[in-house]
Amino acid sequence: MTKPNTSTRHSLTTADLARARARLDSELFRLREELVTAGADATTYVRCGATGDDPGDLGAAPPSRIDRGNGAVAEVRLLMQETTAALKRIEYGTYGTCESCTHPIGVARLGAFPRVTLCLHCRDLVAHHWPAIRPDR
Ligand SMILES: [Zn+2]
Repeated sequence: MTKPNTSTRHSLTTADLARARARLDSELFRLREELVTAGADATTYVRCGATGDDPGDLGAAPPSRIDRGNGAVAEVRLLMQETTAALKRIEYGTYGTCESCTHPIGVARLGAFPRVTLCLHCRDLVAHHWPAIRPDR
């Protein structure tokens, strides 16, 4: 029995979907753990910065360090939203379909980036017109 060529195959099999679901489930679990850890770290930092200071001095803590902490939490939350959305697309039967042009995203691309919502063509259009947006995660 020959294995299908995943680099050009576009239709997702039941096994592909099961693999994607398992991977996204485990990613969601990992992100939740990361969020708990990041939240605990941020709390620790604010408490350390305020030790012995007037509570009003909290605002005097170096803003760049606090901002970086919040940015990391925001990034994890965004990844969690995208992961949850990908799991819903599997549930609703739309996983693997480009949300812009409705063509198949492709098995290889989904294998590399299981949360993507755009095919390569549409991703390239987004990257060309809006370089600040990162459609591949
Ligand atoms: Zn597309």
